[in-house]
Amino acid sequence: MSGPQASWTILATLRWTADYFRTKGVSEPRAAAEILLAHTLSVSRLDLYLRYDQPLNPEELARFKALVVRRRAGEPVAYLTGHREFWSLDIQVTPAVLIPRPETETLVAAALEAAQFYEENEVERGGQGEDQPKTGSRKPKPPSIWGLELGVGSGAVVIALAKELTRMAWVGLDTSGAALAVARGNARRHGALDRVHFLKSDLLTALKPYAVFSLLVANLPYVPRAEWERLPREIKAFEPPGALLGGEDGLDLIRPLIRQAPQYVKAGGWVLLEVGDRQAPLVVALFQQTGAYDRLESIKDFSGMERVVRARRREAAG
Ligand code: GLN
Repeated sequence: MSGPQASWTILATLRWTADYFRTKGVSEPRAAAEILLAHTLSVSRLDLYLRYDQPLNPEELARFKALVVRRRAGEPVAYLTGHREFWSLDIQVTPAVLIPRPETETLVAAALEAAQFYEENEVERGGQGEDQPKTGSRKPKPPSIWGLELGVGSGAVVIALAKELTRMAWVGLDTSGAALAVARGNARRHGALDRVHFLKSDLLTALKPYAVFSLLVANLPYVPRAEWERLPREIKAFEPPGALLGGEDGLDLIRPLIRQAPQYVKAGGWVLLEVGDRQAPLVVALFQQTGAYDRLESIKDFSGMERVVRARRREAAG
């Protein structure tokens, strides 16, 4: 006679869990069941189906059950596994950081475009000449271009950019020491720690106001107070409010950043901000009011929402 646990094969466990999540209103029930079971067994999601008739042993079953209970209580899958994929990179997360969102890949894509445009135009501005030695036969070193991310959280955005833009060096700021520790760990694992310098800072206060950056990207907290009340419990009760809440209209941090950024960004450099639902026109207006930017543009995410606002630091008025 086989023990009762013999019937808990991988496939039976997945089916039961997906049904349970579904009846309890847990989002993406099947995916959640797969990710949590794969995590429990330290295998890939695909492996689950290659070994679908393998039974779980009592110890595995107990660990899996504990995760199912926590998920049912609202805890996000990414905090349960400690991982989230972003820009095809495995990013480690803890409750100290916002879980990277797929729509934030729009910010990365828009920043890559801006960086390319900047590099193509740098020769015209004479930037290439500055770093070249006057004599000697050594090949001139390419100028290093600096980027800045404000509010790095897990580090997902700045690490994705550092991996793509291999000639650039980066500064990554956050007010949270715990978040910076997570970001540093992720940068180290992805071999980007030598090109990203992480610093604790409230907005830009840790930096001297020198216009050295060619790119400034930020996914600041932008959720308006009233909207915060309506967010699912899964976000409200588990993700760091400091990474989400942006005051009455959500723009409490974006407003000062737009005012201060011209002191830090080179003429011809770009500022890119992630924004929330219906905020893009307001943020465009904020950029315009300063008179310090041109080429204002809103960029839509995959769901058609205006998700990123991009602006170029004006060339010195002449
Ligand atoms: N998009 C996030 C959400 O799910 C908000 C992120 C932010 O405030 N920067 O609410």
